[in-house]
Amino acid sequence: MSKRTLNLTDKLYDYILEVSLREHSLFAELRAETNRMPEAAMQISPDQGQFMSLLTRLIGAKRVIEIGTFTGYSALCFAQALPDDGLVVCCDVSEDFTAIARRYWQRAGLHQKIELRLAPAGDTIDALISEGAAGSFDLAFIDADKENYDRYFEGCLELLRPGGVILVDNVLWGGSVIDPAADDPDTKAIRALNRKLAQHSEIDLSLLPIGDGLTLARKL
Ligand code: CA
Repeated sequence: MSKRTLNLTDKLYDYILEVSLREHSLFAELRAETNRMPEAAMQISPDQGQFMSLLTRLIGAKRVIEIGTFTGYSALCFAQALPDDGLVVCCDVSEDFTAIARRYWQRAGLHQKIELRLAPAGDTIDALISEGAAGSFDLAFIDADKENYDRYFEGCLELLRPGGVILVDNVLWGGSVIDPAADDPDTKAIRALNRKLAQHSEIDLSLLPIGDGLTLARKL
């Protein structure tokens, strides 16, 4: 059987970082601080962050919504790519994690472009829709509790303008999606969303094997 995707060894991944990663030292400092935490695996990789920064500029995004902020690295990536009047709305429930995030957003001078909403993300999405924000976002990043991925996806789709893009993280879930023995709720939710998106009539779709799998869905 022929392989359609390169086997990304650690050495080759290091090479990718060596020849393409342009990471500000403050961003690297945040990653290092987060890497010392037990939840470090929840942080996106720096190459994925850079890709999302580039994508933000490629589509000329001004308004971004992030579902799952953790210690704030991805929000930094979006905020630095936005114009001065751009905004990232960050949804998270953790005071502790987002306290770290706020500290770095402030130090990076990007805090004015970031609005943190500490509440269950589904509630924040509903609140935004009732505030009249449907159709007003250019980009969404979904990277929170996997069991609610479907709800987040449909909510973000409503918040996006036509041509806006949703990024869904962890769609390969460490390979569990193809492991017949894996039947935990998170894996099941991710599998169900992947299957649904394959047939979803309101989006253009691409699943990239970057990080733990990143789906790009463009609203028609
Ligand atoms: Ca993730």
